[in-house]
Amino acid sequence: PEQLTNLADMVRDRARTRGDAIAYEFEGRQTTFADFDISTNRVANALIGLGVKPGERIAYLGKNSDIYFELLMGAMKAKVVMAPVNWRLAGPEIAFIVGDCKAPALFVGPEFITQVRNIQVQLPDVRHVITTEGGAPEWQDFIAWRDAASGDDPKVPISPKDIAIQLYTSGTTGKPKGAMLSHANFLNLVNAGSEAEKPEWNKWSADDVSLVAMPVFHIGGSGWGVMGLYHGAKGVIAREFDPTKVLDFFEQSGITKLFMVPAAMQFVVRQPRARQVDFSRLKYMLYGASPIPTALLKECIEVFKCGFVQLYGMTETTGTIVALPPEDHVEGLERMRSAGKALPGIELAIIDPDGKRLPPRQVGEIATRSGSNMVGYWNLPEATAKTLGSDGWLRTGDAGYMDEDGYLYIHDRIKDMIISGGENIYPAEVESAICDHPDVAEAAVIGIPDDKWGEVVKAIVVMKPGKQESATDIINFTRERIAGFKTPKSIDFMEALPRNPSGKILRRNLREPYWVGKDRQVN
Ligand code: ATP
Ligand code: MG
Repeated sequence: PEQLTNLADMVRDRARTRGDAIAYEFEGRQTTFADFDISTNRVANALIGLGVKPGERIAYLGKNSDIYFELLMGAMKAKVVMAPVNWRLAGPEIAFIVGDCKAPALFVGPEFITQVRNIQVQLPDVRHVITTEGGAPEWQDFIAWRDAASGDDPKVPISPKDIAIQLYTSGTTGKPKGAMLSHANFLNLVNAGSEAEKPEWNKWSADDVSLVAMPVFHIGGSGWGVMGLYHGAKGVIAREFDPTKVLDFFEQSGITKLFMVPAAMQFVVRQPRARQVDFSRLKYMLYGASPIPTALLKECIEVFKCGFVQLYGMTETTGTIVALPPEDHVEGLERMRSAGKALPGIELAIIDPDGKRLPPRQVGEIATRSGSNMVGYWNLPEATAKTLGSDGWLRTGDAGYMDEDGYLYIHDRIKDMIISGGENIYPAEVESAICDHPDVAEAAVIGIPDDKWGEVVKAIVVMKPGKQESATDIINFTRERIAGFKTPKSIDFMEALPRNPSGKILRRNLREPYWVGKDRQVN
């Protein structure tokens, strides 16, 4: 509505208009918008006091908390860039990210003090370690550090192009890359379209209560938390995802909207208590970041009885660019398998390898252009040029097609596509056919080298507990459902599939042993 040009001004503005309302609630502690404005001033002044310069990164290794959002927005007021680190990563991976962003200051949650002590020699750039909840006598404590600084507005000028956050991609296809998102990127996300154009599910009111249930080191946590702040709504912060606690939040905090990934929805909906909880205040459940099995979606619609919205996007697009609204969540409708339509102000196209636009229903690479496209990858000029192109169209690396009405159907990552005898095969379609087998728990499909066909389809299958492993049975079952060339030629069985900390299947790890010494041509 109003002409904000950066998120620091947004914090100041909410303090003026909604000062007494609750901005964040975390484990019984409530922060008003007025207090949030002052504590973020203190954080900014304290960072300046440490000698952190505008444009430098600070790192956060901790679970979700109100302190994280104080640090994020406080850093913005000092023109310093927050880089939250995925705490599920191993020591060397954490050291890689903290080192990559050359953070002079590292903020550490209580659960990770020992880990940081162990890897501190691998963090030569870190001059200051500050613990968010005490617990380490050799390091400063956040509250004392913050409260020793002035609460006056530091008045550091911020332009829309300045970087607001550096979020690392989840590393499904390789090492995580630091996506730099600007203030303008965020304002484009929250403001997509005029009030009139905005879909109903994307309108917020001041009495909305949102649950920040996903980790802040992903856009689904940080972006979602900022979204609530922008709308002057109350954000209830969950320290980490815990399915029983999510149900408690519904009962005790009157959550009206939240975002979850499909894997998290499955944990919540399968809680025996889920069917007894009163969801009458819940208006919308937004979900995305990976494909959702139709059976799970149906189960969730039945249990949560609210509006469902699928989101498609990536770290590099500041999150959501495509959404499937509640009115398209109708059983039997083809659209139920779609990820939805582009949000107002977002351009979407399906392109071939030369960048030429493809007609409806033809599969190609999903590309997008809008003010939500990242500024670039930190210190990776080649990867940035490859992804952003010279034409402003961001290449998502995902394959898919659009129908005549602009609905997007996502197939898979282009790197995971299998080319067998000249035919393109998308693992997700084969996996979904295999998973229809009643004894199969989960499946991953990869291409392995073959002298005759170039690549052939192989499936890695996890059986449900106590079920007999039979490759022939699964192959025959699948052949009845999909074309012969898509049917797996061989099957390996595993106890569990390799996933990255965001729950995404790491097909590249499964592929690796079969491709030693061979070159896999990807498009
Ligand atoms: P990296 O880029 O480091 O390999 P990543 O791509 O997994 O990691 P994210 O930015 O967290 O990191 O994820 C974005 C990707 O998630 C998209 O490119 C797409 O493949 C997938 N995705 C997002 N939303 C959906 C959705 N609704 N349905 C299916 N896949 C989705
Ligand atoms: Mg990616």
